Amino acid sequence: MDVSTFQSLNSGIGVFNAENKTFLIPQMNGTGAYLLAAALRSFGIQAQALDTYNALDLGKEYTSGKECLPCLITTGDILKFLNDEKEKEGPLFKPDNYIFFMPESDGPCRFGMYNKYQRIVLDSFPEFRSVKIGSLTSRDGYSLDGLVGYDVRVLRKAAYLSVLITDILNRLVWRIRPYERTEGETDRFIGKAVAIMEEAFERYGAQNAFGSILDLLDETVEQAGRIPDPSIEQKPLVGIVGEIFLRVHDQANQDLVKMLERYGAEVVNASLIEWINYTSYNRMRDAKMQFRLDLKQFRIGDAKEDLKDILTHAVDFFYQQYTQRRIYKRVQNNLPIAGDHRVAHLERILKRDDVFSFDVGTEACLSISGIMAYAENGFNGVVNVYPFTCMPSSITSSIAKPLMNKQGVPYMDVPCDASQQPGRETDIRTFMYQVYQHHRGNRDNGRG
Ligand code: SF4
Repeated sequence: MDVSTFQSLNSGIGVFNAENKTFLIPQMNGTGAYLLAAALRSFGIQAQALDTYNALDLGKEYTSGKECLPCLITTGDILKFLNDEKEKEGPLFKPDNYIFFMPESDGPCRFGMYNKYQRIVLDSFPEFRSVKIGSLTSRDGYSLDGLVGYDVRVLRKAAYLSVLITDILNRLVWRIRPYERTEGETDRFIGKAVAIMEEAFERYGAQNAFGSILDLLDETVEQAGRIPDPSIEQKPLVGIVGEIFLRVHDQANQDLVKMLERYGAEVVNASLIEWINYTSYNRMRDAKMQFRLDLKQFRIGDAKEDLKDILTHAVDFFYQQYTQRRIYKRVQNNLPIAGDHRVAHLERILKRDDVFSFDVGTEACLSISGIMAYAENGFNGVVNVYPFTCMPSSITSSIAKPLMNKQGVPYMDVPCDASQQPGRETDIRTFMYQVYQHHRGNRDNGRG
């Protein structure tokens, strides 16, 4: 890399046309990356989900220990993939055929720096210098503009739907697994369901035939409804919030959801789509603030432009909300999976109790308000899971923990650092004891 100009940080990271390239998607949980890859393949992009968590040694070797855990994990994943490809392809290996997808957010935490850091790591291997890092940013709501050489609107809708259906399949699992008749039945079922949805996205995504995808989802939900044993009593409800990667990455969080289930909980984790909705909501919110400021200062021309921005962002945001509401309702007609929080409602909760502000940004505003919403809805315990030293999650802990103590709702922090935490199971058993006490005292757990 040209260290004096850091040119590679400009030329090697950004939005690149992915047609005819191998587009590599890091895995957070076992579903999302596969459905997104399938949706992109439908548009002619050779997308694939990267294997994960089997190259921690490489991740540790090429990070200093100060980076966030997701950065370490994904650095190991991409290095392992590229090394394997190089070995497999031999002289045919063409690094410029690959785009590694690493989105970013404009902070104020370190998520905006992963891709720069990984650029520096890839540049330190001469053979990987021309591997591109494809970065989408929260600044434009992760717009996919530029990824293909034609109108990106259907692609955006298909990508959004893939994340939404990932959430629904996850919610399905959390809803039925604690009540399954035979151990492992739900996991086997959902493995097949993901494969079916993957095929559906690949076949129908680019045709804009989302109705066919949703019909298959209906069948899946209907079959899933037969798994639970109705004679098993309602279990205590535990809500999870936290850093998006860690809370859905089962290996990185030591299989937190299953461990909670093993000790008697029914779990609801925060959704993936929440972050995408939040970035769209925030762009609309920022445009409104700018409009008020320009009006106050009589910058009428600018205020007119702001109005156009508000309208554009509002269209995006309301499309997302409408789609989410419609599909959740369709699913809930067959099986009462947990609903999702509305971003505007989360902001209202924070304003009402004056405990934090969307002005600060980061996932902290979603996590703090998410915890408060769980408590309001009668959950019997809440868990905040995050990479060790994560800034937004540490803020969440400092605010939410005393709040939950005051309300008598069991609360647990779960920091993760890629090592096996020997006391984790004991912590969870103690937490679950409190959850049971809460459940006994509050039989109405709010589901309805
Ligand atoms: S959210 Fe936490 S883990 Fe993610 S970049 Fe920010 S500080 Fe790191």
